[in-house]
Amino acid sequence: MTIDVLLRGDLPFPRSLPEFQQLFPDESACAAYLERARWSGGFACPHCGASGEPYRITTRPGVLRCRKCRRDTRLTAGTVMEGTHTLLSVWFWAAYLVASQTPGISAVQFQRQLGLSRYETAFQILHKLRVGMVRPDQDRIGGKTGEHVEADETWVGGRTRGEGRGVHHMTLVAAAVEVRQRKPGTKPNPRRSGRYAGRVRLAVVPDRSADSLCGFIESIVAPGTRIITDDWSSYAGLNKRGYDHMPIVERGDPQVAEEFMPIIHLVFSNLKTWLRGIHHGVSPQHLQAYLNEFTFRFNRRHYPFNAFRSLLGIAGDVTAPSYAEFYAGEHAPLYLVDVCDNRISTDQSSSATLC
Ligand SMILES: [Zn+2]
Repeated sequence: MTIDVLLRGDLPFPRSLPEFQQLFPDESACAAYLERARWSGGFACPHCGASGEPYRITTRPGVLRCRKCRRDTRLTAGTVMEGTHTLLSVWFWAAYLVASQTPGISAVQFQRQLGLSRYETAFQILHKLRVGMVRPDQDRIGGKTGEHVEADETWVGGRTRGEGRGVHHMTLVAAAVEVRQRKPGTKPNPRRSGRYAGRVRLAVVPDRSADSLCGFIESIVAPGTRIITDDWSSYAGLNKRGYDHMPIVERGDPQVAEEFMPIIHLVFSNLKTWLRGIHHGVSPQHLQAYLNEFTFRFNRRHYPFNAFRSLLGIAGDVTAPSYAEFYAGEHAPLYLVDVCDNRISTDQSSSATLC
């Protein structure tokens, strides 16, 4: 993803709550920001192609009317905000809070902070913002000289419900992370000897077979990349599949894992802490959406400005999938359990909750 923050000096990003208030004091300020984000060179009518200053309707700040063909264009068309009755300022607050708070925000916290009367509104806004968390991350990681990728899999969550020994509802998550080396002269973390995480990819996989694990790696890691894994046999085919594979014999010794694959274990530990602390009660069929959110936060932890605009679907270089596309095939997520709100998923088919 290109980092266009440097190219768009006309689109400032608030660094604090007072700055946010100054930049986005009302609906028309949000509308003006949206307009600049979408048409950096000035309005061009999507219907007839004419450019030039459009008519503006004071009572409808979200609409521009072409002077030539007189048709209306909504500023939110093609963004995650399209078709909602929620004020732009509420969307902007949501994107700001989601982008700037490291662990994110729960629907209940968001509802309280914005004084929204309905929980469902808060939930839907946050759930729609997650749509913008996917499309920016479609390129494959790795592929750079001097860097390698650590890959591993882990079980997430799952309580038993009196079904007897050996029965669990844990979900298998595969992950790969770029490992970079700090430049000489910078102060390294002694435990990781100067290594730190680049970008990460996470996916729910059905099992620990070679097809599942190597298939995951092929879909998200560039060919030719050096990949470090443990010595689980399913990874053995990685060389044949075009990677420079280096298996580590762990033999269950956590110190070996810490020494050779410290970054992926850090990612797993962060993921589990985050799922438990912020979103306890994520059901298995929604886990991938939360993995997407975690990936998005992790990969943009240094770029809240890009996160803010990706979330709203106005990043310019990103075409977000529509809400319907993104959640096609998923159960209606209205009552997905979020943090500390004691709601129970209305989807009775999933008895398991994660974490
Ligand atoms: Zn027109």
